[in-house]
This record gives sequence, C-alpha cells and structure tokens, in this order.
Amino acid sequence: MSWRKGSNLTWLRGLAGVRQGEALATRTSFGIGGPAEYFVEMANPQAIQVVLDGCRLRGIPYLLLGAGTNLLIADTGIEGLVVRVVNRDHEVAGTRIRAGAGLKMMRLARIAADANLRGFEFAIGVPGSVGGAVYQNAGCWGKELSQVLVEVRGFQPGADARTWSLNDLQLGYRTSALRDGPLHGSLVIDATIQLERGDGEEAKRLMTKLSNERNETQPIKTKNCGSVFKNPPGDSAGRLIQAAGLKGARQGAAVISALHGNFIINQGGATAADVAGLIEHARAEVIRRFGVELEPEVELVGKWK
Ligand SMILES: Cc1cc2nc3c(=O)[nH]c(=O)nc-3n(C[C@H](O)[C@H](O)[C@H](O)COP(=O)(O)OP(=O)(O)OC[C@H]3O[C@@H](n4cnc5c(N)ncnc54)[C@H](O)[C@@H]3O)c2cc1C
Repeated sequence: MSWRKGSNLTWLRGLAGVRQGEALATRTSFGIGGPAEYFVEMANPQAIQVVLDGCRLRGIPYLLLGAGTNLLIADTGIEGLVVRVVNRDHEVAGTRIRAGAGLKMMRLARIAADANLRGFEFAIGVPGSVGGAVYQNAGCWGKELSQVLVEVRGFQPGADARTWSLNDLQLGYRTSALRDGPLHGSLVIDATIQLERGDGEEAKRLMTKLSNERNETQPIKTKNCGSVFKNPPGDSAGRLIQAAGLKGARQGAAVISALHGNFIINQGGATAADVAGLIEHARAEVIRRFGVELEPEVELVGKWK
C-alpha cells in the first residue's frame, strides 16, 4: 500500500516548520532539480530523530540534505520528506574539533587554522557539509576525511544515537557504510577530527595556494557538482573523458567542461535529464573506447522516469 494515506499526510503536515512543494534547485550547487514533496530544515538532532523515527514507522520515504553539492535531483523532485540538516555548532578541545553535521567543511578548515591546528587544509576544496563529507569520505589533493576522523555520532532511525568508530563507518574511496553499507539511511549528528598543533597562518597560506591552483584547473565557480565520476584504479576519469573527445559535449544546457573532463556544468536552465543523459553518454563512450566502466561519484536522487 502507498505510504500516502490520510494519517501519514496529516502527520507530515503537522511537523513544525514543514513546507510543501519546496523548490530544491536553489539548494544544490548544480542549481537543478524538482521540488521536495515535504521539506523541513532542522538543527536539533533529537528532533530530527523523532521525525526520522516517525518516517520509518509510517513507511514515509525521506532524504537527508546537506549542502547539496553532490546531488543530482530528478526534475520531478523528491517523494516524501526532505530534511535539511543544519546543526552547525563546533567545539575545539586541544587538538580535536567536534563539528556539527551541518557545518561546511570549508568553514571547518578555517576554524582549524584559526585554532592553530594543521592537517585539515584539504577540506578547503570540499564545499559540502561535515555530514555529507562523512557520508562519502570526502577528500582532495590526496587527503581524505578518514585520515583525521576519530569518531562520528549518529543514529539509525528506530535505534538510539550512538558513536560510530572508523571500523563501523567502513570508509573507503568516496564510500562509507552510510553511502553503500549497513548504515544507509542513518543520520550523522556530528564528527570529531584529530589534528596537529601548528602555525595557523601557514595553514591559511596553503589553503589560498591550493584554492588558487584549483581555480585554474577546474570550473569551480560554475554550477556543478564537483567530480561527476570516481577515478578508476590507476587512472583519472577526467583524463579518460578528455581522451574520448568528450570535452565540450552538450545536452541541452548541460556541458562537459572544456577545462576539466570530469565536470558537468549547468550553463543555465539545464534539466536533471540533460545532466543524466550526458553522464550516460560519457560512461558509454569511455566503455566503448577504453573498456573502463566509470562509476558516478555524484548521487542521483528522486523520482526518475
Ligand atoms: C565545486 C565542487 C567541488 C567539489 N570538490 C570535491 C572534492 O574535492 N572532494 C570531494 O570529496 N568532494 C567534492 N565535491 C563534492 C561534495 O562537496 C562532497 O561530496 C560533499 O561531501 C557533499 O556534502 P553535502 O553536504 O553537499 O552533501 P549533499 O550533496 O547534500 O548530500 C550528499 C549525500 O550525503 C548525505 N548526507 C548529507 N548530510 C548528511 C547527514 N548529516 N547525515 C547522513 N547523510 C547525510 C545525503 O543524504 C546524500 O545522500 C565538490 C563539489 C563541488 C560543487
């Protein structure tokens, strides 16, 4: 039976701060995607737990939304409830920082530098939230979150909040137990990272240098989702896409960047179907030319036809 029965809809409409038919495109870095059937922004983990437990009990589908920088949301939108997680608190204790899931990784990188802590400069390249970064073990410039992560607090709907060790999280290259394993559907409340004492000014100089270099080699300031595909072992998705002659390939207003083959840009008015079409085209061409199957890093969510 569909979850869309009267008592469920009454419950959803009664949630504090819930909005119906909320546009999501503006909440993603792609600037693409249809509306959320129901949408709520929440900072309090206990309150989120009550809502997710309620969804689970009632069979209502839900999606957790962070900064929306790794999502391609379908043009028809998201069924059920979208919960945008916005707990942005943080606490520095010695060389450790505990950061709320809604805090942006870039902001946390600056907080670390301000506290004269080193080892988190790579996070200046990740525009997503801490929760989204745990979900897929975000990283760049050869570093990833798992190298500094100590533990994560969170919960699976229907169970109590608990602390997950690195073992529980099964972090790998752009993967985790949240994205691909037994913790799927769970909420990250906060994450604790362990850094080293050092010169914060040096950390800031390094972040500026890394950001400047990146601006020259990647179309960071456009509407995009970062890397579309994961790099296959021993190679780079961008190199393969370029070698397949796909830079500049277009579908509607979606274009494979001329600057970097692993970026798809929304030039204005691109649909999710345009982007999904280009992703499939690039995947198929790279298989045809090189026999390599690229796996998307971007996550396609929502109701696809
Ligand atoms: C210009 C640009 C550059 C980028 N560069 C990099 C890079 O160098 N390295 C890299 O790794 N990524 C990069 N990304 C991708 C993106 O920033 C990361 O994947 C980031 O970790 C996604 O976080 P988010 O908050 O935006 O998650 P969202 O896109 O909002 O969500 C992604 C997934 O995380 C889940 N999620 C979000 N919050 C929570 C939570 N609190 N609990 C549980 N699940 C949650 C969502 O349900 C969803 O399934 C880039 C993106 C852009 C636009």
